[in-house]
Amino acid sequence: MDWIRFNRRTPCPVCQGERSDCRQNTTTGLVYCRSHEANPVDYLYRGQDTWGFNIWANKADAEEWAQQNRQEWQREQQRQRDLEQQQQREQLNALLSIPERDKVIREILDQLTLSDAHREILRNRGISDREIEESNYRSVKQWQKLSSPVTNELSGVKYDGLSLINHTDGILIPIPNEEGLYTHLRVNDLTPGTENKYYPLSSSKRGVKYHLPSGEQPIAVYLPQEAPQKPIIGFTEGLEYKPLLASSNVGIPIIGASGGNFGSSPGAIEAAIASIKERYGWDENTQFILYADAGAIINGNVAIAYSKLGEIVPDLT
Ligand SMILES: [Zn+2]
Repeated sequence: MDWIRFNRRTPCPVCQGERSDCRQNTTTGLVYCRSHEANPVDYLYRGQDTWGFNIWANKADAEEWAQQNRQEWQREQQRQRDLEQQQQREQLNALLSIPERDKVIREILDQLTLSDAHREILRNRGISDREIEESNYRSVKQWQKLSSPVTNELSGVKYDGLSLINHTDGILIPIPNEEGLYTHLRVNDLTPGTENKYYPLSSSKRGVKYHLPSGEQPIAVYLPQEAPQKPIIGFTEGLEYKPLLASSNVGIPIIGASGGNFGSSPGAIEAAIASIKERYGWDENTQFILYADAGAIINGNVAIAYSKLGEIVPDLT
């Protein structure tokens, strides 16, 4: 470390030569001055060193240093954000495609059955025997074991491929998209008083999300048994029984979103609408109807979610 020692010819900029033992560190630019009288306008007090020298930093230097520090900090923050985005992209890129997921989900469904008690519960909800069969509902025990292993690349499958990540007993519900392909598995937890009646099976802890490869939340699409009479597409909250029943009761295709969060799946909703229109040969006159919950009026979050749906589907009624 090099020092400038101040003397009478080049006096200390802090005490203006009051003392003769002042010095400046040429690396840091800090001035070490023992004066107790000095109160220089251009310098900021930075504390005292172990020998009792007061340490002063030039204000201009200090500001430049702070500015550099701030820029460095911002660059570091940006670097962190870029890194996180890259990790997210890599995670999404590693996810199974929807046709691949559908195949693995059906391998799982083939190993499981629906109990009579659960069938009765579904009937009591107004779901017909045919709908129960076609929906491929299954009964699961907590951490459901599989008799033959499936790939752990499907979210919700344990890393060994031999069990499911369901923390409760319940009814296993495969969620269909507009092509009838299963995107992910959910469980209807029938425990009385449970907070989450429906939850997705997820391996997100090891980086395998149940999200769509686009990063959006999966939606559910249920088509009616018979081709609909009028070009109407409905929307409901939920991915499970509610959109299924709405579709069969009203006789129209229904798109469901978990918690009514349509804003989390704009691309998936647009793709589903396009697919439904093409399926039935519908044109621009297709109508969109929202089947809002009774609770939607009082629940602010749901109201916001519905207004987001209005942004995706502008002529919603
Ligand atoms: Zn001095």
